[in-house]
Amino acid sequence: MSILIVDDSLIIREFIQEFLTEGGFADLIMTDSVSAAFEVLGIDSNKPMSSPIELILMDIIMPKIDGLTALKRIMADPRTSEIPVIMITGKIDDESLQSAFDIGASDYVKKPFSQIELVSRVKSVLRLKNEINQNIKLMWELEQANSQLVLLSQRDGLTGLANRRYFDEFIEREWRICKRNKQPLSLILMDIDFFKRYNDTYGHIGGDQCLKKVASVIKQMEKRGGDLAARYGGEEFVVVLANTPSYQAERLAEFYRMKVESMGISHKSSDASDVVTISLGVATVIPTDEYNYKNLIESADTALYQSKEHGRNRVTTALENLC
Ligand code: GH3
Ligand code: MG
Ligand code: MG
Repeated sequence: MSILIVDDSLIIREFIQEFLTEGGFADLIMTDSVSAAFEVLGIDSNKPMSSPIELILMDIIMPKIDGLTALKRIMADPRTSEIPVIMITGKIDDESLQSAFDIGASDYVKKPFSQIELVSRVKSVLRLKNEINQNIKLMWELEQANSQLVLLSQRDGLTGLANRRYFDEFIEREWRICKRNKQPLSLILMDIDFFKRYNDTYGHIGGDQCLKKVASVIKQMEKRGGDLAARYGGEEFVVVLANTPSYQAERLAEFYRMKVESMGISHKSSDASDVVTISLGVATVIPTDEYNYKNLIESADTALYQSKEHGRNRVTTALENLC
């Protein structure tokens, strides 16, 4: 990374070069005008920076374009606005100094300056810039970690579907939205048939694989913003469908049933089929103050129980559906 020096006076440029080189800063780009500096920074030409600049030392009074005008342009350009700028001022520039700080200058050195003064200012501005960069990086990492944590706290580790906790929050919110809009809210509850026997036959790890495959069918169908597929409990899944009438939810439930069956996952100890199947219960309601979302879950659960009772591998729609 280089330091860019912009000063029309040769003697000042030579002082700066000597002081900074002796102070340990070897990578210096010397320019005698703002337009030459803009060339390096890629301002005006819209070209990328010719070499990365970590700091600019800018004289205030210069012919043609002065240091303040240059500073404004540097601060306004997103490619250069993060580069710290130290203004080089003379006695007569005192008034301009306030403007320079208002525009975004980081510091200043007053002519004539000693080597210690120049080098210390350069070092302290660079140190501050580094600290700011570190903090920005840390904040970014923290934000990433936080959003990762939020995601993890909402997901079920095995299937990648939303977990029960997230489902509870989601359905409560959708209940309120559907109540306000007088729209039907549907729920599909599903349960793998004879899953205990599946575990007994194929082992717990085999059971986990089976859960993942069934979950993947449900996940594929989760499309609209008001839909959520979640793992409700062990081998039970739930799908929330906002603004969805009963017949549509029933059709989707039948589709899930068929999809799971057609995966053809062998289940030789099931009494329902020779492959893995699911039983489903569907319930729909236009939310009102008379009910709460737990009633909707109960209805879907009762319907699911009926599917089990009537031979499994089937869909039952709750009788008290209102739409
Ligand atoms: P039904 O057809 O009536 O639903 O019978 P079922 O055997 O599926 O139902 P039951 O509730 O008796 O058994 C559910 C089984 O699911 C028991 C439990 O060990 C298993 N199970 C729950 N969670 C997991 C899991 O995360 N992994 C595995 N492998 N098995 C699980
Ligand atoms: Mg169960
Ligand atoms: Mg089961």
